[in-house]
Amino acid sequence: MKGKIFFISGPSGVGKGTLINALRERHKNWEFPPSCTTRDPRPGEIDGKTYFFVSREEFEKKIDEDEFLEYATVHQGNLYGTLWKPLVEGAKKGKIVVREFDVQGFRQMREKLPRDLYTSIFLKPDGGIDTLVERIRDRAPITETELARRIESMQKEFAMEKMYDHTVISTDGEIEQMVEDAEKIIEETVKE
Ligand code: 5GP
Repeated sequence: MKGKIFFISGPSGVGKGTLINALRERHKNWEFPPSCTTRDPRPGEIDGKTYFFVSREEFEKKIDEDEFLEYATVHQGNLYGTLWKPLVEGAKKGKIVVREFDVQGFRQMREKLPRDLYTSIFLKPDGGIDTLVERIRDRAPITETELARRIESMQKEFAMEKMYDHTVISTDGEIEQMVEDAEKIIEETVKE
């Protein structure tokens, strides 16, 4: 099982979703277990693929039975979390398993799973915090107070880079490079 589980993490807006989607496209035999949530499925979403959709009672039962590596209350009081079973079962079958975390989720997860069971990759924008600030400003109007709060939280997230085994740089307009760098880390780790 060792060397089969990969966690991709990094500050919000850095492009984790883009990287995961590209890896999913290119590696049909890798597994990308979804999160578990109490929110209702939206049209077109598939249980077990987009999310594992469960009731609040089921989610709470899973919390009690310690089935989550991490979980949090996110939108409108809905719970979201990462189940450890689909990760470990995929790896036991000999599959490469890739999972995305925000930095906070990675930190929670790290308390639970032995370090030698997974390899972690931190995704970082080439221009550092400035790149993310630009993206936030471009996306929607934001007050200076809110921006200052976001910058402070980003600084904390960037400071956590040292918790990860590897760093991959994401450069605007160079998705291919980011994907290849992540693939190289994954493929070389599996070979070891
Ligand atoms: P959605 O739009 O799918 O309802 O919600 C997406 C948001 O839920 C994401 O931006 C992310 O913040 C959060 N989320 C999704 N999956 C997880 C998870 O497994 N754990 C945590 N902590 N948050 C999640």
